[in-house]
Amino acid sequence: MSTTRRAVLLGTAGLAAAVAIPGVQYARWSMKDFTRDGYDPGLPPAPEGEVAWTNWSGIQQSTPKQIAVPASEADLANALAEARRVRPVGSGHSFTGLVPSEHMIVDASRFSGLISADAATGTATIGAGTRIRQAARELDGAGLALQNLPDVDVQTLAGSFSTSTHGTGRTLQPLHAHIEGFRIMLADGTARDVSAASDPDLFMAGRVSLGALGVITQYTLNCVPTYNLKRRVWVEKLDTLLDQVMDLSQQHRNFEFYYFPFTGYAAGISHDIFEGEVTGRVPDEDEDTLAGLKQLRDVFGWSTWLRERIAAGSLPKGLIEESSDAYWKLLATARPTKFNEMEYHIPLENGLTCLREIIAALESRNDTFFPMEIRITAPDDAWLSPFNDGPRMSIATHAAVDEPYDYFFSALEPIHRAHGGRPHWGKLHSLGKEELISLYPDFQNFLDLRASLDPEGKFLNPHLAHLFGVDFDA
Ligand SMILES: Cc1cc2nc3c(=O)[nH]c(=O)nc-3n(C[C@H](O)[C@H](O)[C@H](O)COP(=O)(O)OP(=O)(O)OC[C@H]3O[C@@H](n4cnc5c(N)ncnc54)[C@H](O)[C@@H]3O)c2cc1C
Repeated sequence: MSTTRRAVLLGTAGLAAAVAIPGVQYARWSMKDFTRDGYDPGLPPAPEGEVAWTNWSGIQQSTPKQIAVPASEADLANALAEARRVRPVGSGHSFTGLVPSEHMIVDASRFSGLISADAATGTATIGAGTRIRQAARELDGAGLALQNLPDVDVQTLAGSFSTSTHGTGRTLQPLHAHIEGFRIMLADGTARDVSAASDPDLFMAGRVSLGALGVITQYTLNCVPTYNLKRRVWVEKLDTLLDQVMDLSQQHRNFEFYYFPFTGYAAGISHDIFEGEVTGRVPDEDEDTLAGLKQLRDVFGWSTWLRERIAAGSLPKGLIEESSDAYWKLLATARPTKFNEMEYHIPLENGLTCLREIIAALESRNDTFFPMEIRITAPDDAWLSPFNDGPRMSIATHAAVDEPYDYFFSALEPIHRAHGGRPHWGKLHSLGKEELISLYPDFQNFLDLRASLDPEGKFLNPHLAHLFGVDFDA
């Protein structure tokens, strides 16, 4: 979003000069420390013979005996045979405790790169440890494309598929919906090629598997011919945008929006197929916007009224960005500022009501400032796909990496749940087997298959044991 920090700051400075700030309230607020208890940006100390691992945001940490990076299936089989417990890892971009292990973490990044591509059938076979951006580039070279992307592209294919990672688009399914087949190494060291025809249950379970069924080494994907998009970003009043959301999501191939808390304004983003000469992507100013919103909170968080007035005066309005380029250069962005996140997927018919309640709950806390992201995804049929019973609206809330996020659980999660929400598997939530079994008709099928493929619990850790309702003894 090109709502520049400079614009926000200039507005701030202008208004600060114009109003007499009540000294006591301002002084009390300006002394506030927003850092959450226990925040430590470092790696955990690893005792002798162990190595330190942390996820992207630092809230998941562990000290396994080994992080194995097998170069071949034989290496992978040896690693699986050696370790009592194993957790596969991608690029560590999940916020939940899917990866930590005190025994072994297996990094599949050497199973990487395009193996084959067939432009005539639109299928391609790619290493499961390939990062999304690399996959998109290599497919592009073969005239093929992924149908959609998430908002960052540094995740691995296996990592993103395994948690049902999604982009946005009323007719566009989550990424794993385009898996035609995959190769997986099971707990006993055997490798299986899986497709809907060869192994229907493992196919339904394995596309979104949370890394609980084995280590996936390659995928065969259904792709589309490569394409360009036109990107438009505009800022307008939240209420106006909310009135148009359903129409906008039908009119555009990809539509999403960000709400800037305590401003009353939101930024809509659309992408549509574009066939002319591309302009190239305009550099975005997301980081500047974020810094401006933080500064607004830091200085004026004590007065909701003032904060909203300043934002209304300083945010640019209307169309702020228009550009066209290859899809993989537009749909994903960089996120240098780290955060923690909760995202729930709400049945589309309940989405807007839920969103209004989430915004009200968020804005009852003056210390929040991070934009919220709202997207819509089409259904698919994987057993653990949150989208497998109809289209859903995904509502994501973020907290700065060093600030509290406990209110995600106490204030926001109950609202999401009351509206039939299912959590993103890779983003913060507190659900366990009891809740999940009532949300997913095929959850028990997944549990039964997992128990039959991995009777010793090689791929378990405490988080998965909680999700699956099984005992865990490290
Ligand atoms: C900045 C940021 C932006 C994000 N944007 C989006 C977004 O736009 N949309 C969205 O839906 N999500 C988004 N996410 C969430 C992210 O896409 C998911 O958490 C995803 O799972 C991360 O992929 P990864 O490669 O980092 O996998 P990891 O987090 O390392 O692992 C995820 C899961 O995959 C399993 N796994 C990894 N490799 C294998 C393998 N070879 N075989 C079997 N299992 C394996 C792991 O065991 C784990 O259960 C974002 C996260 C961050 C931090």
